[in-house]
Amino acid sequence: QVSRVDFMASLNNDIKPAFGTNQEDYASYIMNGIIRWGDPVSAVLQDGELLVKQTKDSDRTPLVSVLLEGPPNSGKTALAAKISEDSEFPFIKICSPDKMIGYSEIAKCQAIKKVTLIIKQVWTLRNKINLIMSLIHSSYLLVFQGRKLLIIGTTSRKDVLQEMEMLDAFSTTIHIPNISRGEQLVEALELLGSFQEKERASIAKAVKGKGLWIGIKKLLMLIEMAAQVRKRYFVCLWFLAVLAEKQFGTNIPLRM
Ligand code: ATP
Repeated sequence: QVSRVDFMASLNNDIKPAFGTNQEDYASYIMNGIIRWGDPVSAVLQDGELLVKQTKDSDRTPLVSVLLEGPPNSGKTALAAKISEDSEFPFIKICSPDKMIGYSEIAKCQAIKKVTLIIKQVWTLRNKINLIMSLIHSSYLLVFQGRKLLIIGTTSRKDVLQEMEMLDAFSTTIHIPNISRGEQLVEALELLGSFQEKERASIAKAVKGKGLWIGIKKLLMLIEMAAQVRKRYFVCLWFLAVLAEKQFGTNIPLRM
């Protein structure tokens, strides 16, 4: 249970006000766009859209909170940013572990009717958890009375949140999956225009019908690394080798 004293202490000591607008911050989270590499991406965006609609339309639930959970690098923050962008809520605040919401920001929210609050990596905010719990649960939200508030949290440690009994603080959770099939990988490469057509065809042949496991953020990084491979002849081999290594969580150095 968080008392008002705890809450005010947290507000005074733990939280640095974030200055300036959040716009450039926000754009940087979605820098590489949203590649629709398969049905799971559309499903997440559809679920997000429904929640936004619920927040907008329902007077019974003006506060909706959703937790986007999934493995590291699966694209949780970018999808949270995309959902908020599509919501057209005029005020969006992203809270990273290193940047917590400031009092002045909350004050600003009072003037605005519809607010999206994205809390990145919820579990890493251990010492600020009281504050988050308060934000989600407590009467402090009275400042938002008569307003619409959508809180989107992201985490790659659902287990930790569950242990801390914080999962119930969110109205719902949406799972953000990794790319898990060869066909999805190829779709992503095609949409990104990565590799030459011939190279893509041989990658497609190699991964067809196969299971794999890679987050979109990791994939984007691998593609950038592949662009540095000097001997083009080896690029597909290199890419497939690194991809295979990634399945086992090891890092292999850039060779060739
Ligand atoms: P971390 O585990 O480090 O918190 P994350 O899961 O939050 O990472 P993001 O920081 O959102 O991952 O990075 C995803 C990157 O991939 C962004 O640059 C985004 O623009 C890009 N991206 C491309 N397509 C997609 C997609 N379908 N879903 C999510 N992100 C995508």
